[in-house]
Amino acid sequence: MSTKKLALITGSTSGIGLGIAKSFASKGMNIVLNGFGDPSTIEEIRSNLAKEYAVEVRYSGADMSKVDEIEAMIKTAENEFGAIDILVNNAGIQHVSPVEDFPVDKWNAIIAINLSASFHTIRVALPKMKAKGWGRIINIASAHALVASPYKSAYVAAKHGIAGLTKTVALETATSGVTMNAICPGYVWTPLVEKQIPDTAKTRGITEEEVIKNVMLHSQPTKKFVTIDQVAALANYLASEEAASITGALLSIDGGWTAQ
Ligand code: NAD
Repeated sequence: MSTKKLALITGSTSGIGLGIAKSFASKGMNIVLNGFGDPSTIEEIRSNLAKEYAVEVRYSGADMSKVDEIEAMIKTAENEFGAIDILVNNAGIQHVSPVEDFPVDKWNAIIAINLSASFHTIRVALPKMKAKGWGRIINIASAHALVASPYKSAYVAAKHGIAGLTKTVALETATSGVTMNAICPGYVWTPLVEKQIPDTAKTRGITEEEVIKNVMLHSQPTKKFVTIDQVAALANYLASEEAASITGALLSIDGGWTAQ
């Protein structure tokens, strides 16, 4: 069995999750990728990462809205590598709509993928981490774990839920060598953000340019999108030995958004 640390990152075929996977691989960690996408593109990502950094890279297509698939993904990783050392709960989706029109299936999917999936990965992966006396759980939450925006009821509810889960599990694991934290990014330029621009424009009756300038970057005093590399660097720090005393923290990386 490999002596390298194993990091499993949910939703790592795109955006922030992929950035974290690349960054962890570059530091010599074995990786389990997860998420949706074109199979040949995912295989290319997998094999390139393995070759470039001389690490083991596996892929699980588990759907984070399905409890049995989540359990199977964690068990398979543990059977192959012994234990998951670093678990990053990152998979997420968004839907923008006034609450009275919010489609019930979208509400259920957002709560399942953005909140309940983290409960399931944590409850299954934690026993092996505790037995090893070392583990890092990093939840990719959002500024929306701390403050709200209109028309994002399910997303904001799920992310506030993640904040509570992070603090609760951190207390339960405080003496075990396992830490649990949440990263709360502001707007990061990824496909998830790009996709919500047309809907937000429609819901608010403004142009797509106005959504970027007056809605998204309006919230961020720096007037800049957060970068994927900046979020990945914070995840790397939380995964390090030096971060052993950081647990139960909700760490903002939002260009000053939540300072207002
Ligand atoms: P993205 O759309 O680029 O990536 C989302 C990933 O999740 C993809 O790999 C996708 O395949 C995967 N995914 C979606 N549904 C899934 C499911 N049912 N099962 C398994 N995988 C699934 O989005 P992103 O912007 O990189 O977002 C990643 C995380 O960061 C999300 O939790 C999001 O809420 C959070 N976040 C993003 C921003 C931002 O501005 N982009 C800001 C704050 C927080």
